[in-house]
Amino acid sequence: MSGDSSSLQSSAVIQEAVQSLRNGGLVAFPTETVYGLGADAKNPEAIKKVFSAKGRPSNHPLIVHIAAPDKFDQSHIDWVPVLASWVRDISEDALKLINAFWPGPLTLVFKKDKTVPLEATGGQDTVAIRAPAHPLTQELLRKFKGGIVGPSANRFGKVSPTSAADVRHEFEEMLDLMILDGGDCAVGIESTIVDLSRDCPVLLRPGLITPGEIFKKTGVKVFLPHEYAAIEGQTEAPKVSGSLRAHYAPTTPLRLYAPGRVLDALGEFPDIKSRVAVAVWDSDSSLGGDGHPSVHFEEILVPSDSTSFANKLYRTLRDLDQQGWDLILLPEPPAGEEWDGVRDRLQRACFGSGPSSNSHANN
Ligand code: AMP
Ligand code: MG
Repeated sequence: MSGDSSSLQSSAVIQEAVQSLRNGGLVAFPTETVYGLGADAKNPEAIKKVFSAKGRPSNHPLIVHIAAPDKFDQSHIDWVPVLASWVRDISEDALKLINAFWPGPLTLVFKKDKTVPLEATGGQDTVAIRAPAHPLTQELLRKFKGGIVGPSANRFGKVSPTSAADVRHEFEEMLDLMILDGGDCAVGIESTIVDLSRDCPVLLRPGLITPGEIFKKTGVKVFLPHEYAAIEGQTEAPKVSGSLRAHYAPTTPLRLYAPGRVLDALGEFPDIKSRVAVAVWDSDSSLGGDGHPSVHFEEILVPSDSTSFANKLYRTLRDLDQQGWDLILLPEPPAGEEWDGVRDRLQRACFGSGPSSNSHANN
């Protein structure tokens, strides 16, 4: 992420983006998580353009991005007026989470205000909101004076973009799509989503901010979906786009391997004789003797720390996908909640990977 937004994008360009949004157009924008495909969150026609550009089913709700109050002191910021035109009520827990993590990579789901169009919420009476931490997008939001819906700026089910060039590549034929360049995304995977519209907070999508960190900073317990389901009388958590079995998927087949079990992972692909990219933790020296005589392995080092791995995840998948490998093997992430966001994305990416990776449409 670039700390100095003005060096990459002038205020005239931001003004042009604001005008485009007011005219019902689409603008791709940087955030600390991934790039978003933005439209005016209170303009149903503009929102429909986002769904058709992505090829995303219209019942998959979007996240509304909002500005932090103008000049603020992190400890005295009052978010209630900012949220007033989006949500019906703000609980004590909500304020604790907001004060601790906004602006930042945490999305919260609330009961929606009646002025929020159903097009933005996939027909649900709840709305997902977050204040992104990227300075350029904060400037855009402040000047726009409204909310911007922003799903990841990629085709439905595919790898999320973490640079302006990735967005351009995803939407090559949309020549008039305005893309604000804010540099590479600092977090690299989508925000953590916590549902606050129920009687207790529920984790809908793991991300950089974990339930453990939330508890430590705020004392609020966020239930995992299976913990929530175990509470008697609870209905199922809502279906979210990120919960599809196949998502974030490269075109090249992708599999995970357990420590020292590269050959087992390869056994699933008996016909592969040529090029296999095998990622290895940068803390390990190399694959050693764990190669296969009839296959050409090439080792790629990946960070063994969860935050750095997340930051490189989509970049690595996109780059490898363009290098013409027959198969990509990545090491299984270790146990621990700090790896949950990465593990979640990798499992879905594996499931959806391969040349005919349209299984996500049926899941
Ligand atoms: P993306 O798929 O990148 O657009 O991320 C948006 C995520 O937020 C998806 O997983 C959505 O399903 C989720 N989301 C948005 N609005 C809601 C909502 N009202 N309730 C539950 N999840 C939501
Ligand atoms: Mg997405």
